[in-house]
Amino acid sequence: MSIYLDYNASAPIDPVVLEVMIDVYKNHIGNADSRTHEFGDRARTIVETARKQVASLLGINAAEVFFTSGATESNNIAIQGLEAYALEKGKNHIITSSIEHKAVLETVKAMGRRGFEVDIIDPEPSGCIDVNAVLQKLKSNTLLVSIMHVNNETGMIQPVLELGEDLHARNILFHVDATQSCGKLIDELRSLKYDMLSFSAHKLCGPQGVGVLVLRKKNYKLPPVRSIMYGGQQEHGIRPGTIPVALVAGCGKACEIAEIHADDNRKKLAKVKATITDMISTSGIEYSYNGNQERCLDNTINVCLHGVSSEALMISTKKYCGISNGSACTSKSYSPSYVLTAMGLSDERIDNSIRISWGPETDLEQLRIDFKELLLVAKKLVQ
Ligand code: PMP
Repeated sequence: MSIYLDYNASAPIDPVVLEVMIDVYKNHIGNADSRTHEFGDRARTIVETARKQVASLLGINAAEVFFTSGATESNNIAIQGLEAYALEKGKNHIITSSIEHKAVLETVKAMGRRGFEVDIIDPEPSGCIDVNAVLQKLKSNTLLVSIMHVNNETGMIQPVLELGEDLHARNILFHVDATQSCGKLIDELRSLKYDMLSFSAHKLCGPQGVGVLVLRKKNYKLPPVRSIMYGGQQEHGIRPGTIPVALVAGCGKACEIAEIHADDNRKKLAKVKATITDMISTSGIEYSYNGNQERCLDNTINVCLHGVSSEALMISTKKYCGISNGSACTSKSYSPSYVLTAMGLSDERIDNSIRISWGPETDLEQLRIDFKELLLVAKKLVQ
């Protein structure tokens, strides 16, 4: 079995989370919105416990947490859900960046086709968005700025803390896709000023198929986000449909575990990174990291192994390591990473770049064995 180094695509479920979910599936039948029996009451209690666990991790009020099917849906609701308000207020300008996940980028582009004015900011060669580049684009009709916290391909931490302060002062809605940072940059997320925030549970060792949209209250009022679907009053109508109680319980537990083990996890991630960077630097292969490593989250490396085709490397090292060369959501059809392209990297550099991402439970011994094999193969592939 090869070592899994693609946590940014999906992290393995924590066994404790799985246990909680199995218990719900086995012993807590019912619909959390049923009002006529105890089964419903018990399911509702489980959902509300999970809501509190998410709120505790993020340092917010539980009433600000809305469960969805994942970050894709959360991003869509956060952005498209503002359409009615935008029309009402005559505010139809949206700013985002070219390195967002497609769930933001494609949604904003779709809004553009529906008559919204859209500005898409390119990153600096460092892989980070320049705060001033965003601020310069603000106009009197700016409705929304949507910038991710950590990029899924490069691990670059974006300057959302500074941006949040500025946008808050100007009363402009700010959405943050925190899918890759939730449960990792805990203090940053607690002090960040935002109106809407999205994440998926499976990136922090929770189950796939559940996520959160946070709507922060200002003066006791939620941001003017409306549902983009019809059919029920669940989650205050923000996300209609039966609440998947076991998934939600798993999401809550994953958040609780991330909060409890925050310090320990941070150290473990840094240790894995040090091991990988040591091995790369002593491999004898010429390499360059993509993005400013001082701003890189400790669970990701995006590296160009010069002269080594990433496709050839991934195919020939499948039995050692599960790595990737871009986002899983766009990896079915190979085209050069749009994130690395936006950073201004050459096609050749992008062709030779791989993404390695890991979690706190990544086994260092196994890593040393399997990653060594990968580097030996890479050395043979150098052209
Ligand atoms: N945003 C970011 C930054 C992501 O990395 C991902 C998952 N790759 C998503 C959104 C979408 O998450 P999901 O597929 O779980 O909806």
